[in-house]
Amino acid sequence: YAAKRMKTGYAVYDPKFESSGINRLNLMSELKKGLQHDQLSLYFQPKINLHTSRVCGVEALIRWHHPTRGFISPEEFIPLAEQGGLIRELTSRVIRMSMEHLQHWKAIGISIPVSINLSVRDIQDNNLPSQISSAIENHALDASCLELEITESAFMSAPQKGLRVLKNLDSLGIPMGIDDFGTGYSSIAYLRDLPVKIIKIDRSFVMDMDSNDNNRKIVKSIIDLGHNLDLQVVAEGVESRTSLDMLKELGCDMAQGYFILKPRPFDELTDWLQKKTDLQKL
Ligand code: C2E
Ligand code: MG
Ligand code: MG
Ligand code: MG
Repeated sequence: YAAKRMKTGYAVYDPKFESSGINRLNLMSELKKGLQHDQLSLYFQPKINLHTSRVCGVEALIRWHHPTRGFISPEEFIPLAEQGGLIRELTSRVIRMSMEHLQHWKAIGISIPVSINLSVRDIQDNNLPSQISSAIENHALDASCLELEITESAFMSAPQKGLRVLKNLDSLGIPMGIDDFGTGYSSIAYLRDLPVKIIKIDRSFVMDMDSNDNNRKIVKSIIDLGHNLDLQVVAEGVESRTSLDMLKELGCDMAQGYFILKPRPFDELTDWLQKKTDLQKL
């Protein structure tokens, strides 16, 4: 690896990119083009309230459809966008697309909040709150149409600056949650001080909780911790009926995962939402 790295001068070496003939710099400049040429779109995954079995929100998950390489995972290009200074533009795009989709839903009588994922650079930008509030206003929507997800590590990398932005977002009335909870190097103390209302248990604990007793115990502990702090708890990565039933039993508030529905494009999700008047089965 080291020899290769010196020869090519890659800033960061990742065998995944090399094996497919892609390097990060190429991918970065292609992402820049992709942003200009509308290769990015949003998929949506529903979130279910486990107490009522109703859909209580949808998460917006970005997709990059590359003209020749096909779909590229956000796990690959979000870190690149962060390193290459493209993430603010990307997030602005996600906010705008979400608002447009929300308007369409509103027009056909579907009123459901959209969760948007934020990156570390987003919550360090003092302009983010006013950007979001004017986007809401310009689309004749209100603050309850949005939710924001922030990872522990994004917050911990610049707690002071992040806290100021999060407090401003909170004063706009936008609910915020901690994503991937349990995976970052975080202190529990910050949970008490952050203006968050939701914690989202990382899918790595949830996915196999029906067969892995340690993970089931971790999930239970996080639910209890969240409730003791008056937070709502979401489990992401629910892949089986058994896990869903366990989560209900443990008092978890909301669930998201392939067992309920995989992320889908706007039109498909709209159809699903319209048919899914009765979720009691879940
Ligand atoms: P995340 O925010 O934690 O999103 C959940 C991820 O888990 C999504 O992957 C989703 O498709 C996947 N997932 C949902 N249910 C299940 C399940 O039952 N089993 C399994 N195995 N996976 C499940 P996705 O869409 O590939 O996104 C990956 C990550 O990329 C996201 O993790 C988020 O950190 C980031 N991301 C996605 N969209 C955006 C965006 O618009 N902005 C930013 N900043 N990050 C984004
Ligand atoms: Mg998320
Ligand atoms: Mg997550
Ligand atoms: Mg994640």
